[in-house]
Amino acid sequence: MDSTVIRIRDVVVSYREDVALQGVSLEMRKGEFLGIIGPNGAGKTTLLTVINGLGRLVHGEAWVLGSRVNGTSRTALRKRIGYVAQVQKIDPRLPINVRETVMVGCYGRLGLLRRPTRAQWERVDNVLEMVGIAHLARRPIGHLSGGEYQKAAIARALVQQPEIFLLDEPTASIAPQAQREIMSLIQLIHTEYRITTLLVTHDLRQLPLICDRLLLMKEGKIWREGAPESMLAEDVLSELYNGATSAETASLCP
Ligand code: ATP
Repeated sequence: MDSTVIRIRDVVVSYREDVALQGVSLEMRKGEFLGIIGPNGAGKTTLLTVINGLGRLVHGEAWVLGSRVNGTSRTALRKRIGYVAQVQKIDPRLPINVRETVMVGCYGRLGLLRRPTRAQWERVDNVLEMVGIAHLARRPIGHLSGGEYQKAAIARALVQQPEIFLLDEPTASIAPQAQREIMSLIQLIHTEYRITTLLVTHDLRQLPLICDRLLLMKEGKIWREGAPESMLAEDVLSELYNGATSAETASLCP
């Protein structure tokens, strides 16, 4: 049986005259964990938008979960994909608590106008327990720390029961202890549910522990890919980050 869940062929994406992806090809099999690293502007986020059906392909093709990504497949596809971005600043006056925010993850399958069932609220409570913020369920979403907010964002993606999990710098701008917790949580979720996972990050320390494969992106292209240990060698990183000094790359290294 073909276990390929993502197949991208020679994709080009541009924003007006800026070319963000130049001929990118990628295949991922079900349950794989792919790390994506590279300098700012390398095209990492844009690659995730192609998988999410939001990228505007000017060339090439993308198939995700058995469907060719195009205008008609987009909405159906997004229900099957969980997405977690960087911490968002939320207005503390927003009258929505953590439990209600996480329930939003169910609306893709539920439909906006249907009331959640008791079973769905139970699922939300179980997921809140799993990510370690059950005690914050009734707190307004704008009253969380960065790390707590990211756990809620991960919970919202998880109740959606995604088949693919896209994580775009989920540990950026949060405290170091919370960063470690979020990375461990991502690892736990992947081991528990074997969701096909793509993690874009600038935090290289824990990558060898959690990734099966590492993609190195530079100037809109996949510059290299391979086993995390070899991709995180100091000379490779120095070249990836355009001649960063050994001290600089050492600080990124595991
Ligand atoms: P970072 O690590 O800084 O988040 P990245 O590797 O995720 O960067 P992308 O966000 O994919 O890079 O951006 C790739 C290129 O496309 C960059 O040159 C960026 O300026 C450009 N770009 C991204 N989004 C847009 C947009 N909405 N409009 C115009 N240009 C964009």
